[in-house]
Amino acid sequence: MIADEEDHRDLRDALRALCAEFPAEYHRKHGAAETYPEEFITALTEAGWLAAMIPEEYGGSGLGLTEASIIMEEINRSGGNAGHCHGQMYNMGTLLRHGSEAQKKEFLPKIASGELRLQSMGVTEPTTGTDTTKLKTTAVKKGDRYVVNGQKVWISRIQHSDLMILLARTTPLAEVQRKSQGLSIFLVDLKEAIGNGLSVTPIRNMVGHETNELFFDDLEIPAASLIGEEGRGFKYILDGLNAERTLIAAECIGDGYWFVDKMVAYANERTVFERPIGQNQGVQFPIARAYVDIEAANLMRFKAARKFDAHADCGAEANMAKLLAADASWQAANACLQTFGGFGFAEEYDVERKFRETRLYQVAPISTNFILSYVAEHVLGLPRSF
Ligand SMILES: Cc1cc2nc3c(=O)[nH]c(=O)nc-3n(C[C@H](O)[C@H](O)[C@H](O)COP(=O)(O)OP(=O)(O)OC[C@H]3O[C@@H](n4cnc5c(N)ncnc54)[C@H](O)[C@@H]3O)c2cc1C
Repeated sequence: MIADEEDHRDLRDALRALCAEFPAEYHRKHGAAETYPEEFITALTEAGWLAAMIPEEYGGSGLGLTEASIIMEEINRSGGNAGHCHGQMYNMGTLLRHGSEAQKKEFLPKIASGELRLQSMGVTEPTTGTDTTKLKTTAVKKGDRYVVNGQKVWISRIQHSDLMILLARTTPLAEVQRKSQGLSIFLVDLKEAIGNGLSVTPIRNMVGHETNELFFDDLEIPAASLIGEEGRGFKYILDGLNAERTLIAAECIGDGYWFVDKMVAYANERTVFERPIGQNQGVQFPIARAYVDIEAANLMRFKAARKFDAHADCGAEANMAKLLAADASWQAANACLQTFGGFGFAEEYDVERKFRETRLYQVAPISTNFILSYVAEHVLGLPRSF
């Protein structure tokens, strides 16, 4: 029924079987208590799904972003929230594409086996926000170490990860020709760092996401933690961000289908004025519109994923897929709450939880305004606005 579903039937069936072991009550309980769904993430890890993108020679299954996006979509479509584990997928891409052979040999087999988790990426800072190239966290080389100082905000899954990809400035802004130069990425061992120069303060938030403020105070990390060449980190991180945007588009699509399925079932079953509410076109049309928008967004998501897998420039498609899918899921969420009437507000129907969860993607990992500005400037050639 949906675009490309048939092509990945076995993958979807396997995911659906695993997700069915974690019914709505499970996700509702963790959502309400704002706790991490440890058993679910462990089951996904043990089944190998979070190692999908690791090449077979390192113990993974060697699949692409297309398949990884289907894994994320199915988690959300089942009523879960892939936001608890999607970091592993896009961070993996960064390590795979830009890490040295020694780094890949050291970390990938352990990530594939589940011994290590690579769930965190530290980019956003409190004083610079989306203006990433102005970030103030510095990493200064001293012998065989880098010394890191600064602050990050909204860094997710730190308490449930062993490793973090960190973006920091290695050459001062005043000394580079372009502001995107002089930034570097590092693979930080969180267990070593926390308490030894890195401190973590959790941020309570409306989606129960495990996310934190990080403070770096002379944190020393081995020089070998550097990924790729010093000063080229911004370019590497952009690659990872395209993967992240495509994966999150897929999660929004999973949410969108979840909302549509819920709406259709409820609109057929709920009877008011002696007829199912779904018999009224005023109720039908928002449901049909939501479905149409999700199907359309799905096409762009697969286009982005295929281009990423072919190592082609997918910046435009990844951004557009994220915008279309986030808008479609948000409209579907709104229609779903309306279709359920008062019951949509009750925790036990899960609509309010998924409504809150999918709202995040209007803002993170990049807000809608910045996607439109990317398309205006980089795709359409309009003047740069900032
Ligand atoms: C739950 C959660 C989890 C997150 N996880 C991570 C993570 O793991 N790692 C990480 O690095 N970050 C993470 N983030 C951060 C997220 O990527 C940022 O919140 C997001 O990129 C927006 O940045 P900001 O909050 O600083 O907003 P700002 O940059 O301050 O922008 C605020 C608003 O102003 C608008 N705006 C600003 N400037 C312009 C302009 N020139 N034109 C038009 N509009 C503009 C923006 O669109 C936005 O709506 C997370 C955030 C949340 C809420």
